[in-house]
Amino acid sequence: MDKIKINNLEVFAKHGVFPEENKLGQKFSVSAVLYTDARNAGKTDALAASIDYGEVCRFIDEYMRSNTFGLIESAAEALAEALLLRTPRLAKVCLEVKKPWAPIGLPLETVSVEIERQWHTAYIALGSNIGDKKANLDQAVYALAHLPQASLPDTAGGREDREEECRHTRVARVSKYYETKPYGMTEQPDFLNACLELRTLLTPQELLKAMQKIEQDAGRERIIHWGPRTLDLDILLYDDLVLESPDLCIPHVEMHKRRFVLKPLHDIAPYKRHPVYGKTVREMLEDL
Ligand code: ADP
Ligand code: MG
Repeated sequence: MDKIKINNLEVFAKHGVFPEENKLGQKFSVSAVLYTDARNAGKTDALAASIDYGEVCRFIDEYMRSNTFGLIESAAEALAEALLLRTPRLAKVCLEVKKPWAPIGLPLETVSVEIERQWHTAYIALGSNIGDKKANLDQAVYALAHLPQASLPDTAGGREDREEECRHTRVARVSKYYETKPYGMTEQPDFLNACLELRTLLTPQELLKAMQKIEQDAGRERIIHWGPRTLDLDILLYDDLVLESPDLCIPHVEMHKRRFVLKPLHDIAPYKRHPVYGKTVREMLEDL
């Protein structure tokens, strides 16, 4: 992807773990690589088609001065999130926060923290077969679209009127809801199933945790594996990530075998390819 680079923007701010640092302040220097598609701007010569780096610099300066963190890790994390939330066309950012005058008492040039953060696309499967199933799915879609904010940029104007654009997780598309016969344990009520597409700044683990909280709030009890549930939320895909950890496997290990997953997923992403098997959602559905 194309990059717009800001090199060593100097900011006088008060981040640090020592009270003296928070009082006196010191020099920081911020470098940012803004990943964006610059083709359209390059072809039209229109600033409106690009990211205004002057405006980004002013925002970084203001943000670093008006928020005080103990760690430069936190300063970088919060600033990266604020930039991704407020900057249209910014897909990913690499941020380095340098602290040349860090009170270490030894001669060094700088210490710094560098992080890369970006928007991710995840596909989530939803299922319910207890109670008002449609209401359960509706509630889950709403909850995913309104996850609690980790950190909101204080400097970026009123919190309320900017709430929509300040969301670290956004529901991009939702499939139709499908009545389906139970799978595995068949002696239980029919399911209502759906899929949705999320744009999110959360990591896969953070997303799983947020989804498990939504399941709990819906009254989900983990009693019988594959048994009846008010709400089941699974991560099907997360970008093209392949992850096998004890509590989280991505792509979801069963997705290619389940019609009740592939059918709704086909509504919103028919040509999305499974990163391991290489087949599109349509091909996996045809294989069943
Ligand atoms: P199931 O979805 O198979 O009916 P559960 O919802 O009870 O069963 O999930 C069991 C466990 O599966 C969860 O505790 C979670 O840690 C794990 N898990 C592994 N991969 C995923 C994934 N991609 N999405 C959701 N949960 C997952
Ligand atoms: Mg589950």
